[in-house]
Amino acid sequence: MSDAIALTRSLLRFDTVNPPGRERDCAHLVGAMLQEWGFEVAYHEYEDARTSVVARSGGVDSKPPLCLTGHLDVVPLGSRKWTKDPFSGEADGDRLYGRGSSDMKAGLAAMLLAARSVAKSLSGTPGVVLVLTAAEEGGCIGSQHLARTQLLGKAGAIVVGEPTSNYPYVGHKGSLKFYARFRGVSAHASMPDLGVNAIYKAARAVAELEAGGEGVNMVPDSASVGVDIRTVPGMDHAAVRAKLQALLGSEAEIEVFSDMNAVWTEPEQDWVRRVFEITGRALGVKPEPRAQTYNTDAGNLLKVYKGAPTVVLGPGEPQQAHQTDEWCSMERIRQSVAIYEDLIRDWCGI
Ligand SMILES: [Zn+2]
Repeated sequence: MSDAIALTRSLLRFDTVNPPGRERDCAHLVGAMLQEWGFEVAYHEYEDARTSVVARSGGVDSKPPLCLTGHLDVVPLGSRKWTKDPFSGEADGDRLYGRGSSDMKAGLAAMLLAARSVAKSLSGTPGVVLVLTAAEEGGCIGSQHLARTQLLGKAGAIVVGEPTSNYPYVGHKGSLKFYARFRGVSAHASMPDLGVNAIYKAARAVAELEAGGEGVNMVPDSASVGVDIRTVPGMDHAAVRAKLQALLGSEAEIEVFSDMNAVWTEPEQDWVRRVFEITGRALGVKPEPRAQTYNTDAGNLLKVYKGAPTVVLGPGEPQQAHQTDEWCSMERIRQSVAIYEDLIRDWCGI
């Protein structure tokens, strides 16, 4: 596992498809490696086998550490047939195939190897904290739980290794995910006048059916609709929620299960300028401020690492995320190890 491609492959071999996730084995392999390199490692399970890893090294009072973060889980394979093995890391030219190659086991591997190469120099410097999460896909539930623990400690800036082809993005959308429940009255289908069909209520409220009743010969007494609102910087989620409640009607019982603000760091911010310099050198372009459409764990981490400038920067190809025959460029993977290492050295002054 000495090289980034080999390490990406070994991570791809863990089936961390979410649902159900089962990140534990992958988390423990990663944690064991970090421990061997001198990192202090802690695990957190918000549910059986849903394991996140927080690893730190170095640390001084005068400046908080740099946070590198990524997720261990991957999305399901989808209904289309794969022509490559999703779990073995088949290579073809520059492409490394597998579920999670771009999103984002390549990013994890690159962060790990960058951490390894600086591990011996981190003592007496601000240091690094790696936050490797379970259950990012489908609502960032792992990081939501982590943010309620003491394990995250402090961080002064965040690098999110989601797929960007190594381009530094200074923002991304937020999201508010919830279930809206509608209650009715159950009755036999032959006497529907005795019941109140909750589905019709839900349909009237959101004009979209998502859940069915328990049987076709029954008037269902409850219906639940899943809603995922994507937000942009500046949108107040409490106001969004109030507006939606008004729209859905007072009978809708709203249960929020994921609530993350959009992320945006001013491109003029000092550290962001350094990130642009470092990645610009590696990519041979002058980065411009851009934001991603997808959501990341940073939305939750920023609840603890308040005000930390944040960039999304990872070797995966954004268009490959969640695709059949997902692949990642091996050249990009190697490039990102060097970029992450430079970012750590820059932050820690080594
Ligand atoms: Zn991802």
